[in-house]
Amino acid sequence: MEMIGHGGKEIVERVLPKDAAIKRVAELKAAKVKTLDVRLQLATEILDIAYGFFSPLEGFMTKADVQSVCDNMLLADGKTVWSIPIVYDISSEDLEKSGIKQYDEVLLNYTGNPFAIFDITDIFTLDKKEVAMKVYGTTEDKHPGVKRTYQYQDKFLGGKITLLNPPKINEPFTRFWLTPKQMRERFKEKGWEMIINHQTRNVPHTGHEWLMKGAYLGAYGSMMVDKPRGGILVNAMIGSKRPGDYIDEAIILCQEAQGKHGYFREDIFLTTCTLWDMRYAGPKEAIFHACLRTNLGCTHHMFGRDHAGVGTYYDPYDAHRIFDRLPKGSLNITPIFNLDWWFCPVCDEVTYMGLCGHKDKKASFSGTLIRSIIQDGVKPPRRIFRPEVFDMIMESAEKYGFGDAFVTEDYLKRRNPVFTIEPLK
Ligand SMILES: [Zn+2]
Repeated sequence: MEMIGHGGKEIVERVLPKDAAIKRVAELKAAKVKTLDVRLQLATEILDIAYGFFSPLEGFMTKADVQSVCDNMLLADGKTVWSIPIVYDISSEDLEKSGIKQYDEVLLNYTGNPFAIFDITDIFTLDKKEVAMKVYGTTEDKHPGVKRTYQYQDKFLGGKITLLNPPKINEPFTRFWLTPKQMRERFKEKGWEMIINHQTRNVPHTGHEWLMKGAYLGAYGSMMVDKPRGGILVNAMIGSKRPGDYIDEAIILCQEAQGKHGYFREDIFLTTCTLWDMRYAGPKEAIFHACLRTNLGCTHHMFGRDHAGVGTYYDPYDAHRIFDRLPKGSLNITPIFNLDWWFCPVCDEVTYMGLCGHKDKKASFSGTLIRSIIQDGVKPPRRIFRPEVFDMIMESAEKYGFGDAFVTEDYLKRRNPVFTIEPLK
């Protein structure tokens, strides 16, 4: 089966089989190679690299890659589109203490267990302000992506990653996490040839439901009903959270509920997740999402209003316009640009900005409105939230959110990790 990913290259998979990994770790320990402990942020990206979510990247970026991504939105090869730096940071003190030098092979541990091998080919520094300006269009640390950039330590390590120890994905995420290769196998089983990706970090109200239905109708309008050859892939971004975000468990379970309860036929609908800390880079992140979903095997990607934006840093449709600036053929996925869906009391239905002529009467699905509905906990009309979806929000809040559907400090401290790395044996 074809496993070609972003950049026209074979999907990267750098994961040692278990027996080989155990042997390799014993050798590395006997050779007393240097070790580093990685934090969750880096562990997440190591998994993304090793399983090919970031194909064609085979490791953390070198300085040449970061510079080229910032300056030209291309990898250092000068032709592969890439918009967000993927970097491994370390403090000067820790680097010195470790004694790590260029071309060292280093054993990475996570939560005390052997995790990956890092072949270090570059040790470098970055001008963080320059990176912030070029990637996020601002140097204000109120922007969460800029803040993350400024929080990086002062040195960076570039080089290839090989995973030694696969993650245990914990409940309720286990059935939703599929590697790019597994994802493509699933599509094949389903007989899907066209796959529309819906990126989300929300629980779905009917506005989202119709966004997906609209994209489906647009892309598949001419398909035969008896044999759907395509479907909608909901791919939730699961990663670092900010207070006030929806809890990850509610997002994934409520998305799934739409298929379970027939708002989408189950044979055209699949809910999955990818581990990624949102950078809120707006247009640049839209390009990144397109590359990521190409690797998952998607043929189409939906981009809504203010895709991956935050605050007022980006024009709501900048994330649409940026695709026009890419050289033709540089992405192997078709963007579907969505305008707003809203509830119109005159039409008495959920309708589309491009169709409904009652703009002045519309009731938008504003974040504030939706949030207050959820906080009240009183079941809203089904044309705003499907009752089964709303029940699942409440259930997830109780079961996973310590009583809250939104992220609280308590949740950040006490939540069950999405994945764990167990002893290698
Ligand atoms: Zn109307």
